[in-house]
Amino acid sequence: MTEDMIPVNPDTLMQFDCNCENKCFNDCCRDLNQALTPYDVLRLKNNLGISSQDLLKAYTSLHYGPGSGLPVIEFKPNPDKGYECPFVTPQGCSVYKDRPGSCRMYPLARAITRSRQTGEIQEYFGLIEEPHCKGFGKKTGQTVKQWLKGQNVDKHNKENDKLIELISLKNRILPGKLEGAQADIFFLALYDLDEFRGQIFEQDLLKEFNIPDDILVKIKTDDQILLNFGIDWVKHRLFGIELSLGE
Ligand code: SF4
Ligand code: SF4
Repeated sequence: MTEDMIPVNPDTLMQFDCNCENKCFNDCCRDLNQALTPYDVLRLKNNLGISSQDLLKAYTSLHYGPGSGLPVIEFKPNPDKGYECPFVTPQGCSVYKDRPGSCRMYPLARAITRSRQTGEIQEYFGLIEEPHCKGFGKKTGQTVKQWLKGQNVDKHNKENDKLIELISLKNRILPGKLEGAQADIFFLALYDLDEFRGQIFEQDLLKEFNIPDDILVKIKTDDQILLNFGIDWVKHRLFGIELSLGE
């Protein structure tokens, strides 16, 4: 949480309403500087019915964290239109059903801690009251918890927490900057899922692992299982952790 956030808890009343009647409609989709998670990329590419390569190339930019060497994928905003999101339209978000987790959360931010003993996750929330957003001060009677339910954000948070766990593992085992080849594995297995799948099956990447046929079929046909496998693959290739083959 940063200093300009107001800490809130699940039972706090939001006093916030976002709708297309607000003068600021779509303003939050401009001046973008928005990082995407692997699960965001998965949902967006499937929404558009295109491959991960095509999505990443057309709609995102890639850079590497200067200290960590981790890949950072961001929306490629349109400089001729106020750096707006490539998916915003006058009617609103054209990928609403599959919009990223951070779009669902706004104007809330979420941070987590995980107990090393029990694995239990503790969530913390903060409200970002930005001047351009005119949704504040409206009494809807919704608590933070009810707002989050309405945004259908639980699945995104659950999947995105796996990335947070992976990054904290990286920071413990490989502090400092990843080398180029390590960063490439991270990018391939988490973000460029269709290319990863292609390499698994065309280059027989898994031949030494004796993976049961039923799991191979799931990796071949199910993006969610492929992404979970990608996380295991990064743990194996970068940190030497045995493949769990968990789904
Ligand atoms: S700026 Fe705030 S109120 Fe306006 S559309 Fe975005 S989230 Fe809704
Ligand atoms: S994905 Fe949708 S909600 Fe998110 S910034 Fe783009 S247009 Fe706005």
